[in-house]
Amino acid sequence: MNDNFALPIKGVLNKLSVKDLNIKGKRLFIRVDFNVPLDENLNITDDRRIRSALSTINYAIDEGSKVIIASHLGRPKGKVDKRYSLASVSRRLQRLIKKEVTFLPDCIGPKTEEAVSKMSDGDIILLENLRFHIEEEKNDEEFSKSLAKLADYFINDAFGAAHRSHASTVGITKHITSASGFLLQKEIDYLQGVINQPVRPFVAILGGAKVSGKIDVIRNLEEKVDKVIVGGGMAYTFLKAMGFNVGDSLVEKDMLDLANDIRKGVMSKGIKFYLPVDCVISQSIEPGAETKLVTAQEIPNGWKAVDIGPASVKLFSEALESAKTILWNGPMGVFEVDAFSRGTFAIAHSVADAYALTIVGGGDTDLAVGRAGVSESISFISTGGGAALELLEGKDLPGLVALTEK
Ligand code: AMP
Repeated sequence: MNDNFALPIKGVLNKLSVKDLNIKGKRLFIRVDFNVPLDENLNITDDRRIRSALSTINYAIDEGSKVIIASHLGRPKGKVDKRYSLASVSRRLQRLIKKEVTFLPDCIGPKTEEAVSKMSDGDIILLENLRFHIEEEKNDEEFSKSLAKLADYFINDAFGAAHRSHASTVGITKHITSASGFLLQKEIDYLQGVINQPVRPFVAILGGAKVSGKIDVIRNLEEKVDKVIVGGGMAYTFLKAMGFNVGDSLVEKDMLDLANDIRKGVMSKGIKFYLPVDCVISQSIEPGAETKLVTAQEIPNGWKAVDIGPASVKLFSEALESAKTILWNGPMGVFEVDAFSRGTFAIAHSVADAYALTIVGGGDTDLAVGRAGVSESISFISTGGGAALELLEGKDLPGLVALTEK
């Protein structure tokens, strides 16, 4: 990326960064998002979230600080549950970082404090799942203090949890100086900086299940984009609102008027608005169900759209050809089922092949580009699902707001 890259970042640039602190010999509490997917044998199936946090961790070690890492994993609901232990994450971290990582069985308490007090510069500790304590998600004051007691500085690098007001993202910041880590900064740079000052043409591709989940993203982006492409389940509320028969496709009835208003509003600003022109339909979303290809205007009753068709792929891909910035959030169909994944994967390839800065919002779209085998060709894939969406909606994230002002 060139050095003139402008990052007009709302909020976080006024906050301390780990780089602003003299961390040599200091204890750093680094909140990361190691909420990685596990299979039934508790093996990590994707360690990208761990790898994404390494730059801050390596920097802290190189600067000679004592590194205390904390994360949540899954939803253990305040109870110790070995299925959600970070033990396997600790082993993977150790392998990736090529340094010894000491895993502590609890994130607070006298034994944890004792282990921390014995740390030498450059040592790394990973604490057990923060959510084994119910107080974490309640943003409990005493629990926040117990976490803060472990360290001299708090570094937030957990973008995926930055939209949550929890003890380890917000509560702790009331007690110790708090700064952003490199991953957090990078997420803001792309999801806010690039999007607020895109190189044009800027094309947004939105998909996923529901219009209601993306309405605020469209509203926030409509001042910035040149083209909006809508696919996935949400497209059928727009098509229905235009008077087409969408059969049993996903439609949010209470969003019909709003969908029309949004589409007309976007187009009145001279922004091109694309909807599917053909789609794969099925009577059920079970694998193996019979499918047909029809135009998007005539989906028979009893059938629902489960993917975009080849004409839509062509239309959308052509719309991407001239783009210099592309943002993609939400799959084009029920891509979890192989038979309904072709449209999403085809768009993943078009995005990956584009001569453009490409940004993929996290969650399902991250999974989709991974399955399409094109992750390496995307400029930036967010590590946050909900947090990325809130940022794209133009909202302030509590985890960022709470950091210490510069
Ligand atoms: P979201 O979390 O809103 O991005 O939605 C992602 C989900 O949307 C995925 O699980 C997809 O299976 C689902 N989805 C995409 N297209 C459709 C569709 N045509 N009908 C129903 N669900 C869909």
